[in-house]
Amino acid sequence: MYAKRKAQPPPQLPTRIRIGKRLYSIDVVETMINKGDMARHYPALQKIRVAQRSNLTGKRFKQEEINDSFWHEIVHAILHDMGQHELNKDEKFVTAFANRLTKAIKSARFE
Ligand SMILES: [Zn+2]
Repeated sequence: MYAKRKAQPPPQLPTRIRIGKRLYSIDVVETMINKGDMARHYPALQKIRVAQRSNLTGKRFKQEEINDSFWHEIVHAILHDMGQHELNKDEKFVTAFANRLTKAIKSARFE
């Protein structure tokens, strides 16, 4: 009989990631400064900040929400690196792309 495969935990965030020429470091902070932000990328500082708590409601984000906003910022960072600044301002596009990227990463198995 086959043992049922354990569900894999959601991928945790890396501490560093290279996007083009930039080596970003990832800071998980309590809350973001700008109201309504869950995360933000700072190309000049080569930093991606991800919040653990909403600065609107004070509510803790689920790990999955934190991962989602991290990959959302990665899409922004990639578009920035590509010089696609107009596309980068299109939050609808970034969100739709990031949702698919997050699902692809979550479903990936190396076995
Ligand atoms: Zn965004």
